[in-house]
Amino acid sequence: MLNTNVEAIIKILSGLYPDAKTGLEYENSFQLLIAVILSAQCTDLQVNRITGKLFKKYRLPEDYARLSVDTLANEIKSCGLFYSKSKNIINTCRILVEKYGSCVPSTREELEKLPGVGPKSAGVLLGIAFNQHTLPVDTHVFRVSHRLGLSKAKTPERTEKELIALLPPQYRMDFHHQLLSHGRQVCTARKPRCTDCQLLKHCAAGNSSFTGES
Ligand code: SF4
Repeated sequence: MLNTNVEAIIKILSGLYPDAKTGLEYENSFQLLIAVILSAQCTDLQVNRITGKLFKKYRLPEDYARLSVDTLANEIKSCGLFYSKSKNIINTCRILVEKYGSCVPSTREELEKLPGVGPKSAGVLLGIAFNQHTLPVDTHVFRVSHRLGLSKAKTPERTEKELIALLPPQYRMDFHHQLLSHGRQVCTARKPRCTDCQLLKHCAAGNSSFTGES
């Protein structure tokens, strides 16, 4: 059964962001995997600019597996950490070809072993590409959930566990997208707009130090 405060927060966020979903553009689970690897420390908009050209040129894991690190790095150089991302994408694609018949694996354990795929990225892939009830915790989800008083955990992994304990499976992935949208649009890192925030009544931090700052 849902805690009353969590239920109220879900209701408000669902009203504010009814269609919240990933900003990454992709056509299949493989393209989503590449986009997710590229998205570390890079905006969705910038990733989409890169993949818009990249996905036309290279379509299959085999195409990337054959590239040199320098060649791919040059294609993605407008993205932060492009050289290490280039290495990770090529090595990930080699594993897909050699071990998974050029498909993206669908378990957390397998995904987290791919270069460039950490727990958050694995959660995003499982939730979006494989419709599993995950609740990936990125920097926005971590910040907003802590400010709302939904978690006190010190790490994203522990936070994910605490949030999962609060939310029934069917709410989790939407909640991830909604907290992320709220973190980008209202509950920003430096200047949360508490006085404009519809969650203020339900927010631990908003009712203490942040109120009136924005
Ligand atoms: S009230 Fe303030 S701290 Fe709380 S969620 Fe809204 S913007 Fe964030």
